[in-house]
Amino acid sequence: MSLTGLLSITRRYALAGILAGLSTTAAGSVVGSASVPALGWAVLAIVVIACMALAAVGGAWWDRRRGGRERADSSADKAGLANDSDDMVSLPCGISTDITECHAIQESNYRLTFYDPLTGLPNRRLMLDRLEMVVKGSRRTDRYAALMFIDLDNFKLVNDTQGLYQGDHLLRHVAKHLSNVVRESDTLARLGGDEFVLLIHDLAPNQEQAAHAAEGVAKKLLTCILEAQQDQEQVLTLPITGSIGVTLFADGEISVESAMQQADMALQQAKGAGGNTLRFFNAKMQATVMARVHLEADLHQALARDEFRLHYQVQVDSLSCVTGVEALIRWEHPQRGMVSPGMFIPLAEKNRLILPIGYWVLETACRQLAAWAREPEWERLSIAVNVSSVQFHQPDFVARLQHILEETAANPHRLTLEVTESLLMDDHQRVRTIMLRLNQLGIRFALDDFGTGYSSLNYLKRLPLDELKIDQAFVNGVLDDPVDAAIVQATITLAASLGLDVTAEGVETEAQHQWLRAHGCEAFQGYLFGRPQPVTELQVDQLSCIYDA
Ligand SMILES: [Mg+2]
Repeated sequence: MSLTGLLSITRRYALAGILAGLSTTAAGSVVGSASVPALGWAVLAIVVIACMALAAVGGAWWDRRRGGRERADSSADKAGLANDSDDMVSLPCGISTDITECHAIQESNYRLTFYDPLTGLPNRRLMLDRLEMVVKGSRRTDRYAALMFIDLDNFKLVNDTQGLYQGDHLLRHVAKHLSNVVRESDTLARLGGDEFVLLIHDLAPNQEQAAHAAEGVAKKLLTCILEAQQDQEQVLTLPITGSIGVTLFADGEISVESAMQQADMALQQAKGAGGNTLRFFNAKMQATVMARVHLEADLHQALARDEFRLHYQVQVDSLSCVTGVEALIRWEHPQRGMVSPGMFIPLAEKNRLILPIGYWVLETACRQLAAWAREPEWERLSIAVNVSSVQFHQPDFVARLQHILEETAANPHRLTLEVTESLLMDDHQRVRTIMLRLNQLGIRFALDDFGTGYSSLNYLKRLPLDELKIDQAFVNGVLDDPVDAAIVQATITLAASLGLDVTAEGVETEAQHQWLRAHGCEAFQGYLFGRPQPVTELQVDQLSCIYDA
């Protein structure tokens, strides 16, 4: 409580005390309503005048406080004097307490509890309360409602490049612009960070109309997000767009948790589609997500259950002699059968299971190299291992790999690490340092899927690469598509001029093989020479040259 408030209460208690004392001393009566004999008039008059003066002073102070907001008053009576009908003076007495500040504190607490301090929008708690009401309300009204998750794309870049102040500034303006297109009866909330939620109730009586209406609102919101950037004090490095996930619900078939989950799934779909778009939740999406959740749960167990296998696909030289193999991971699931790497590798990269899986691959390949080193027919083979960007950028990657090499006694000169262009894009200097350290151990580097990414010539020049692998997509088209043919030919020429080996992947026909040889390619991999297979099925006779130059 402020000093002014304290003075106010003190003054009022003093006034009440004087009046109470007056009543008792001068009239010999009780506080409240006292009768005063005529003989006391002279004394009483003086005291009453003093009391009225005090009351007047208090009243003036009180009025001044009204200049701001309306006061809150819990008084039962105001101190004052009146004549009763028997010419006797009554002295009503009471206590008045100013609770304006108490109300202000209550209101402040309420805002802190239910509103976001940055944008002034309802927060998660208030939004969940209202969502619960709408979920129940939808049972009663039988009309569709919509829950939209709104997320800014690349918002982190604003904070990272222009500072938190600019980030907060943008969030406030986005909130303001979004509020402009939302009905007062709907709830626009900020969940935290750059995540907003819009809850629209009583949207439409059927799903189709509701979807149409929700789509219209969502498109307006996306436009608002773009417009909000025009209010920025600094021009943004990148235009910030939004992604929106929408779920519609009615008939009381949904819980608060399910509605939130569905809107979030739809948002992830919108994000996955590149952002600046909206997606509606549907049952198929849920089935896909649930399948992924189950797959992920199984993936967590796969290493412990020894369900991974390494298969090897041979690589051949210009004489079709096998020079090495590429190690390719396979997941042999007891119920699902063979799970495609295309299904589980992206998942493993996302949840970082790629780290233990990646080290298992490296260790298994190195053990195989060490085993082949003891066989005269096999000892000259090399193994190429695909390395994930997540794994490559681990601070202890070089140390772990060095440890594996020492433990397995594999020859590092027989190990090639296949990296992707996206891996090389991150932190050039650091990538170069790691590659040089591994190079010094004797490990070779091949750039996988060349031509499908950025194909920057800068990193070809700066990084210690040994080999380019031409992507299967281009090899497939060399005979039919002049563009593919031109790209393959340019890559072969480029590799030759930079002193790099070049391997064509996905060679499936003899015609492709001949075309590639004719254009200077001298290393090949593909079904024409052998499919990926377990090591036990690799035959020694495959090691002999199958093409007679
Ligand atoms: Mg590869």
